[in-house]
Amino acid sequence: MSALVAEKINDDPLEITTQKEYLEYSKTVHHYSKAIQKLIDLINNYVPDAEKAYKAGQPAIWTGGYRWEPTLLYALGVIPVSYTEMGRYSFRDDMLVAEDIYQFPVETCSMVKCSVGQWHKRLNTGTIDRILGSSCMCEPFNLAWEVMRQKGYDVYANEAIYRAPNVDGPRLESLVQFMGEQLLDVAEWVTGKREIDEERLKEEVKRKNRLLVKFRRVLDLRITHPFYMKTLPIILTLSVGVNNYFGKPLEFEAALDELIVELENEPIQEEDLKRAITLVWAGGTGQEFGVYEAIDLAGGALLGFRDVPFKLADESLPALESLVRYHYANSRAGAGVYTRNVIESEVEKLKAKGVILYGYIGCSFASIDREMWRRYFHEKGVPCLNLEGSFQTGAPSGQVLTRVRAFVEMLDSNRQKLG
Ligand code: SF4
Repeated sequence: MSALVAEKINDDPLEITTQKEYLEYSKTVHHYSKAIQKLIDLINNYVPDAEKAYKAGQPAIWTGGYRWEPTLLYALGVIPVSYTEMGRYSFRDDMLVAEDIYQFPVETCSMVKCSVGQWHKRLNTGTIDRILGSSCMCEPFNLAWEVMRQKGYDVYANEAIYRAPNVDGPRLESLVQFMGEQLLDVAEWVTGKREIDEERLKEEVKRKNRLLVKFRRVLDLRITHPFYMKTLPIILTLSVGVNNYFGKPLEFEAALDELIVELENEPIQEEDLKRAITLVWAGGTGQEFGVYEAIDLAGGALLGFRDVPFKLADESLPALESLVRYHYANSRAGAGVYTRNVIESEVEKLKAKGVILYGYIGCSFASIDREMWRRYFHEKGVPCLNLEGSFQTGAPSGQVLTRVRAFVEMLDSNRQKLG
């Protein structure tokens, strides 16, 4: 299978029809790294294994799962299962389910339509039937919670918990108080009791910090080993693994430890450092894995990310307060400029040659942010590629692949001209 997939990708990447094939291919590409192969297995098996565990009696809940949700759910004895991962299993018929059965307008973002289509498929199948939503998402997802609730899912969506970076003092303290109450409400919905075990949550907060530190080490080591861990596994490890641990915290941590040892023992190749076209990825986790493959094939090294983990939780605080303050400390809500500052600091730190902005067709507000960022960086002389993709599985469009290749090749030729 893997040889066949490799052949397909080399001959014509558009022949790939499932993201699973890309993951299998990536394992063959990373044949020299046991750690990366383990991470790819964790990625591949995350949702199916969580659903199996649920059927075997372990509590599990669908969740977007970024900053606070997985930490809290693990402390409550529940596996957080990222619904954004379901896009990887979706086809056009999932989108049609959302449009035809649930009357989502055609122009609705594909991430929402895929999630709705996948939840619909799972109705009455004995799999995970609880959804922890969040009013911090977007209107299309708010609608998704409502229609799934009507269909029989047990849905809970907490109130918006946002903090712009300049909100401090008494206003911040009242937000901290508010969010603490919100998390107790979530605990009550999950377990029936409005309480959270201090020791278990403390352990989870410590685990979060530990894993963030380890992941930062991986990011640092990738600067001197730009081609060791290629685009697909690093993006999924950052945007899913670091948040949810793929439902298996111990295995995830062991794989990160092994990766750090591998990278530390890998000799630095000066030639790689010279030829790497350093890029910053500023977008969501695209499910069009062929885009990542195109970056790799063109010689791009994706080393910087908009979602780099920044501040750690303060372990000296009571666990719930620590989790709340961690959430607000990393919050960049309020205006696109806050995220742009992060992208810019990554560009400067890595001396990146270009930025790839990626978002989903149908996401109106993110597309405005991307356009503003593109213009800003363009004026500063940093080339940007603004891509819009879809969430359902399969090969990316030929047009997207051509644009990625042309962009990276253009950066390469700029670099050669500058010597
Ligand atoms: S991409 Fe935009 S519209 Fe789609 S789920 Fe995310 S925020 Fe909502």
